[in-house]
Amino acid sequence: MSELSALSFTPAPPHRDAVLRFFYGPMDCGKSTLALQMNYNHGRQGRRGLVLTKHDRSGGPRVTSRIGLGLSAVEVTEDLDLVRLVLAHDQIDYLICDEACFYTVAQIEQLADLVDEHGVDVYAFGLASDFRSRMFPAAQRLFELADEVCRLQVEVLCWCGRQGRLNARVVDGVMARTGEQVVIADTDGAQVHYRVLCRRHYRTGDLGAPHPDQLTVSPV
Ligand SMILES: [Zn+2]
Repeated sequence: MSELSALSFTPAPPHRDAVLRFFYGPMDCGKSTLALQMNYNHGRQGRRGLVLTKHDRSGGPRVTSRIGLGLSAVEVTEDLDLVRLVLAHDQIDYLICDEACFYTVAQIEQLADLVDEHGVDVYAFGLASDFRSRMFPAAQRLFELADEVCRLQVEVLCWCGRQGRLNARVVDGVMARTGEQVVIADTDGAQVHYRVLCRRHYRTGDLGAPHPDQLTVSPV
Protein backbone atom coordinates (compact mmCIF):
# COMPACT_ATOMS: atom_id res chain seq x y z
CA MET A 1 0.00 0.00 0.00
CA SER A 2 1.23 3.40 -0.89
CA GLU A 3 1.36 6.39 1.39
CA LEU A 4 2.24 8.87 -1.30
CA SER A 5 0.91 12.32 -0.71
CA ALA A 6 -2.54 12.38 -2.16
CA LEU A 7 -2.10 16.02 -3.06
CA SER A 8 1.03 15.53 -5.10
CA PHE A 9 0.52 15.96 -8.79
CA THR A 10 3.17 15.60 -11.42
CA PRO A 11 2.37 16.42 -15.04
CA ALA A 12 1.80 13.31 -17.08
CA PRO A 13 4.80 12.21 -19.10
CA PRO A 14 3.91 11.25 -22.67
CA HIS A 15 2.63 7.73 -23.19
CA ARG A 16 2.22 6.86 -19.55
CA ASP A 17 -0.61 4.51 -18.73
CA ALA A 18 -3.70 5.95 -17.11
CA VAL A 19 -4.15 4.99 -13.45
CA LEU A 20 -6.92 3.80 -11.16
CA ARG A 21 -6.32 5.03 -7.61
CA PHE A 22 -8.49 4.36 -4.60
CA PHE A 23 -8.26 6.62 -1.56
CA TYR A 24 -10.07 5.25 1.46
CA GLY A 25 -10.60 6.09 5.10
CA PRO A 26 -13.34 6.36 7.72
CA MET A 27 -15.94 9.07 7.76
CA ASP A 28 -14.68 12.56 8.54
CA CYS A 29 -11.14 11.87 7.33
CA GLY A 30 -11.34 14.50 4.61
CA LYS A 31 -12.04 12.36 1.54
CA SER A 32 -14.39 14.84 -0.13
CA THR A 33 -12.07 17.73 0.66
CA LEU A 34 -9.23 15.88 -1.01
CA ALA A 35 -11.44 14.96 -3.99
CA LEU A 36 -12.23 18.64 -4.53
CA GLN A 37 -8.59 19.63 -4.11
CA MET A 38 -7.49 17.06 -6.69
CA ASN A 39 -10.10 18.25 -9.13
CA TYR A 40 -8.81 21.78 -8.69
CA ASN A 41 -5.18 20.73 -9.18
CA HIS A 42 -5.89 18.78 -12.36
CA GLY A 43 -8.16 21.47 -13.78
CA ARG A 44 -5.45 24.05 -13.23
CA GLN A 45 -3.15 21.95 -15.43
CA GLY A 46 -5.64 22.33 -18.26
CA ARG A 47 -6.95 18.79 -17.94
CA ARG A 48 -10.62 18.10 -18.45
CA GLY A 49 -12.46 16.07 -15.88
CA LEU A 50 -15.80 15.04 -14.49
CA VAL A 51 -16.76 14.90 -10.82
CA LEU A 52 -19.10 12.10 -9.78
CA THR A 53 -20.77 11.30 -6.49
CA LYS A 54 -23.52 9.25 -4.91
CA HIS A 55 -25.42 9.96 -1.70
CA ASP A 56 -23.46 13.12 -0.90
CA ARG A 57 -24.20 14.58 2.54
CA SER A 58 -25.89 17.54 0.83
CA GLY A 59 -28.57 15.21 -0.54
CA GLY A 60 -28.07 16.59 -4.05
CA PRO A 61 -25.75 16.02 -7.01
CA ARG A 62 -22.85 17.81 -5.38
CA VAL A 63 -19.60 16.96 -3.67
CA THR A 64 -19.54 18.86 -0.41
CA SER A 65 -16.94 18.68 2.28
CA ARG A 66 -17.38 19.07 5.98
CA ILE A 67 -15.17 22.14 5.95
CA GLY A 68 -17.51 23.98 3.60
CA LEU A 69 -16.21 23.42 0.07
CA GLY A 70 -18.61 22.29 -2.63
CA LEU A 71 -18.94 21.59 -6.34
CA SER A 72 -21.78 20.37 -8.52
CA ALA A 73 -21.31 16.79 -9.65
CA VAL A 74 -22.89 13.99 -11.66
CA GLU A 75 -25.06 11.76 -9.45
CA VAL A 76 -24.20 8.11 -10.08
CA THR A 77 -27.55 6.35 -10.27
CA GLU A 78 -27.78 2.54 -10.18
CA ASP A 79 -28.09 2.13 -13.94
CA LEU A 80 -25.72 4.87 -15.09
CA ASP A 81 -23.12 3.49 -17.53
CA LEU A 82 -19.91 5.34 -16.69
CA VAL A 83 -18.19 4.47 -19.98
CA ARG A 84 -21.10 5.91 -21.93
CA LEU A 85 -21.17 8.95 -19.68
CA VAL A 86 -17.52 9.73 -20.39
CA LEU A 87 -17.70 9.00 -24.13
CA ALA A 88 -20.67 11.35 -24.44
CA HIS A 89 -18.27 14.18 -23.60
CA ASP A 90 -15.75 15.66 -25.99
CA GLN A 91 -12.60 14.64 -24.20
CA ILE A 92 -12.24 13.61 -20.60
CA ASP A 93 -8.78 13.24 -19.08
CA TYR A 94 -9.74 12.23 -15.57
CA LEU A 95 -12.62 11.32 -13.26
CA ILE A 96 -13.03 12.22 -9.61
CA CYS A 97 -15.33 9.57 -8.11
CA ASP A 98 -16.47 10.54 -4.64
CA GLU A 99 -18.43 8.09 -2.44
CA ALA A 100 -17.31 5.27 -4.75
CA CYS A 101 -18.13 2.71 -2.04
CA PHE A 102 -21.80 3.18 -2.97
CA TYR A 103 -21.38 2.52 -6.71
CA THR A 104 -22.29 -0.87 -8.13
CA VAL A 105 -19.58 -3.46 -8.79
CA ALA A 106 -20.43 -3.17 -12.49
CA GLN A 107 -19.65 0.54 -12.32
CA ILE A 108 -16.23 -0.21 -10.76
CA GLU A 109 -15.55 -2.51 -13.72
CA GLN A 110 -16.54 0.37 -16.01
CA LEU A 111 -14.00 2.58 -14.26
CA ALA A 112 -11.29 0.00 -14.99
CA ASP A 113 -12.42 -0.08 -18.64
CA LEU A 114 -12.09 3.71 -18.81
CA VAL A 115 -8.53 3.49 -17.49
CA ASP A 116 -7.43 0.61 -19.72
CA GLU A 117 -9.37 1.21 -22.92
CA HIS A 118 -9.79 4.96 -22.95
CA GLY A 119 -6.77 6.33 -21.07
CA VAL A 120 -8.84 8.14 -18.44
CA ASP A 121 -7.24 8.61 -15.00
CA VAL A 122 -9.69 7.61 -12.28
CA TYR A 123 -9.38 8.86 -8.70
CA ALA A 124 -11.89 7.11 -6.48
CA PHE A 125 -12.65 8.08 -2.87
CA GLY A 126 -14.75 6.23 -0.35
CA LEU A 127 -15.24 4.23 2.77
CA ALA A 128 -13.75 0.76 2.85
CA SER A 129 -16.18 -0.81 5.28
CA ASP A 130 -19.76 -0.38 6.42
CA PHE A 131 -21.17 -0.06 9.94
CA ARG A 132 -20.75 -3.83 10.45
CA SER A 133 -17.03 -3.42 9.62
CA ARG A 134 -17.63 -5.46 6.42
CA MET A 135 -16.28 -4.21 3.15
CA PHE A 136 -18.63 -2.55 0.69
CA PRO A 137 -18.74 -4.65 -2.53
CA ALA A 138 -17.60 -1.69 -4.64
CA ALA A 139 -14.74 -0.95 -2.23
CA GLN A 140 -13.67 -4.58 -2.32
CA ARG A 141 -13.58 -4.47 -6.12
CA LEU A 142 -11.52 -1.29 -5.99
CA PHE A 143 -9.02 -2.97 -3.66
CA GLU A 144 -8.80 -5.83 -6.16
CA LEU A 145 -8.46 -3.72 -9.32
CA ALA A 146 -6.79 -0.44 -8.40
CA ASP A 147 -3.24 0.34 -9.44
CA GLU A 148 -2.72 2.15 -6.14
CA VAL A 149 -4.62 2.04 -2.88
CA CYS A 150 -3.98 4.82 -0.40
CA ARG A 151 -5.20 4.99 3.17
CA LEU A 152 -5.84 8.62 3.96
CA GLN A 153 -3.73 9.81 6.84
CA VAL A 154 -5.83 12.75 7.98
CA GLU A 155 -6.33 12.21 11.70
CA VAL A 156 -9.78 11.24 12.82
CA LEU A 157 -9.90 10.15 16.41
CA CYS A 158 -12.10 7.93 18.51
CA TRP A 159 -13.48 9.55 21.67
CA CYS A 160 -10.66 7.80 23.58
CA GLY A 161 -7.98 9.49 21.49
CA ARG A 162 -6.93 6.42 19.53
CA GLN A 163 -6.93 6.48 15.76
CA GLY A 164 -10.45 6.14 14.34
CA ARG A 165 -10.73 3.15 12.02
CA LEU A 166 -14.31 1.95 11.80
CA ASN A 167 -17.70 3.52 11.15
CA ALA A 168 -20.31 2.77 13.79
CA ARG A 169 -24.01 3.31 13.15
CA VAL A 170 -25.81 4.66 16.17
CA VAL A 171 -29.58 4.27 16.39
CA ASP A 172 -31.30 6.03 19.27
CA GLY A 173 -28.04 6.20 21.17
CA VAL A 174 -27.14 2.52 20.78
CA MET A 175 -24.60 1.03 18.38
CA ALA A 176 -26.32 -1.05 15.69
CA ARG A 177 -24.80 -4.34 14.50
CA THR A 178 -27.42 -5.31 11.94
CA GLY A 179 -29.51 -3.54 9.35
CA GLU A 180 -29.41 -2.28 5.80
CA GLN A 181 -25.90 -1.77 4.47
CA VAL A 182 -26.61 1.77 3.33
CA VAL A 183 -28.60 4.17 5.48
CA ILE A 184 -27.74 7.72 4.65
CA ALA A 185 -27.28 9.99 7.61
CA ASP A 186 -24.71 12.51 8.57
CA THR A 187 -22.35 12.06 11.48
CA ASP A 188 -24.11 14.56 13.68
CA GLY A 189 -27.39 14.51 15.51
CA ALA A 190 -30.48 12.63 14.25
CA GLN A 191 -31.87 9.31 15.43
CA VAL A 192 -29.56 7.45 13.07
CA HIS A 193 -26.06 8.78 12.82
CA TYR A 194 -22.52 7.56 12.47
CA ARG A 195 -19.52 7.71 14.76
CA VAL A 196 -15.93 6.86 13.99
CA LEU A 197 -14.43 4.58 16.63
CA CYS A 198 -11.11 2.88 17.22
CA ARG A 199 -11.13 -0.88 16.68
CA ARG A 200 -11.22 -1.61 20.41
CA HIS A 201 -14.30 0.50 21.08
CA TYR A 202 -15.95 -0.53 17.86
CA ARG A 203 -15.66 -4.15 18.92
CA THR A 204 -16.90 -3.54 22.45
CA GLY A 205 -19.61 -1.13 21.24
CA ASP A 206 -18.50 1.54 23.71
CA LEU A 207 -19.60 4.97 22.48
CA GLY A 208 -18.00 6.85 25.36
CA ALA A 209 -19.63 10.00 26.64
CA PRO A 210 -22.83 11.04 24.87
CA HIS A 211 -22.36 13.08 21.75
CA PRO A 212 -23.19 16.75 22.55
CA ASP A 213 -26.08 16.62 20.08
CA GLN A 214 -27.60 13.68 21.92
CA LEU A 215 -27.83 15.45 25.26
CA THR A 216 -31.39 16.33 25.89
CA VAL A 217 -32.95 18.30 28.69
CA SER A 218 -35.42 16.12 30.51
CA PRO A 219 -38.82 17.66 31.11
CA VAL A 220 -39.35 18.94 34.62
ZN1 LIG B 1 -11.60 4.25 21.26
